[in-house]
Amino acid sequence: MNRPIRVAFLSEHASPLAMLGGADAGGQNVYVSEVSRNLAQRGYVVDVFTRCDSPATPQVTTCVPGVRVVSLSAGPLQPRPKDELWPYMPAFRDALLHFIKHDEAHYDLVHGNYWMSGWVAVELRKRLAVPIVQIFHAMGKAKRLHLKGLDTSPGDRIQSELAVIQQADSIIAQCPHERFELVNDYGADPRKIALIPSAVNSNIFRPIARDEARQRIGLDTEERVIVYVGRMLPRKDIRNIVRALALLLQQDERAQGVCVSSITLMIVGGESEQPDPIATPEIGELQKLAAELGVTQHVRFIGKRQPAELCYYYSAGDVTVTTPWYESFGLTPLEAMACGRPIIGSAVGGITYTIKDGETGLLVPPRDPEALAVCLRQLLTQPEVCIQMGLAARKRVEQEFTWSIVAMRTAALYEALLAERMCPPLAIEPLSLLSLPLVSNTSSPEEMDCDAH
Ligand code: UDP
Repeated sequence: MNRPIRVAFLSEHASPLAMLGGADAGGQNVYVSEVSRNLAQRGYVVDVFTRCDSPATPQVTTCVPGVRVVSLSAGPLQPRPKDELWPYMPAFRDALLHFIKHDEAHYDLVHGNYWMSGWVAVELRKRLAVPIVQIFHAMGKAKRLHLKGLDTSPGDRIQSELAVIQQADSIIAQCPHERFELVNDYGADPRKIALIPSAVNSNIFRPIARDEARQRIGLDTEERVIVYVGRMLPRKDIRNIVRALALLLQQDERAQGVCVSSITLMIVGGESEQPDPIATPEIGELQKLAAELGVTQHVRFIGKRQPAELCYYYSAGDVTVTTPWYESFGLTPLEAMACGRPIIGSAVGGITYTIKDGETGLLVPPRDPEALAVCLRQLLTQPEVCIQMGLAARKRVEQEFTWSIVAMRTAALYEALLAERMCPPLAIEPLSLLSLPLVSNTSSPEEMDCDAH
């Protein structure tokens, strides 16, 4: 193909333009931003379609040459929790088809992100006769299993995921565990699954000397510092880190030791730049827990920070910790590793793949503060081990987890799919787009029972 390959990237709730750190702005936003930019560097043309959540957002924003973000009107022009967006997906689809018609755009391939955009991608496949690649970022069955009654996903999420898995031409799994979930929990055809681990921007996330980093963020302490970075959700189980911290401090008191008795836990993330328990209820829960356990003065809430600043927060720490109940991939372990810091992570999902236990960090069982306290003590009392692990971590990231590798593998997948079709992509007949009948063996969201609402 002589002209550039054009890709429609669908990401209904996660825009590359969003500020990161809030409840619905995390890893998926980073993935969409980095993969689209790196594909553009390889000569692809990518339009990222997201839902417009403000009247002030322009319809089209050019991020870098080759990447545009298109904000589609579907539902209220204000931020809404992602679990409320499902009923607006037919409107999202129609707005996208209108855009194609008016922009006279054509796409060779559609890349769906998350299950709702997966549904839209399947709809486009029927109308545009182009292949679709799907990446879920998180699976509904795992969420239901772990969150139980707290899962606010629409009731037909899993049914929709099953339909997308059947109809997608290819599905990206970010780690072997996700491939296992797709095949075993959802009956996906293993031949359709491409394993493409996500990555970290190792220019943004780079090692900085500890004292310089602390000075930069105004952290005036000689204490040992444990860092958490991420969204402030119960399932991220930051409470587990607070409990482990309390155990560590109690053990020291009992032993009258001096090893780790001066520790600070720094928690980065939330809805606002200033930590606010009203805007971010999980901060309130953590403050309550810290008070109950008598460790309030050892816990500092920072609020959300953007990637350019985050390397100072990771680098200011001696060790980073993330112990979610479950995690489909998890970018924050890679970010800590890229900053040359050891990471303790729970042995779930993609974290078991990114952390080399004993080499670049340590794995612990989830929901086990005692085990975490043991690992924290092990690292905080052995700075030389931390240095060695940090060096190994940075090396692992540089060799295996860069976004240019992700883009190279994604491009190879696209090209294999396009070659399989063995025919040039169809030119879109803009006028006929919206009048094509919907040939579907799945219900559309408006026909389905959204009992979670
Ligand atoms: N993040 C951020 N600022 C914050 C908190 C988090 O930029 O204040 C970013 C973090 O650096 C990471 C992403 O949000 O890139 C979280 O991704 P991860 O895969 O770890 O978790 P997910 O959001 O996918 O559950």
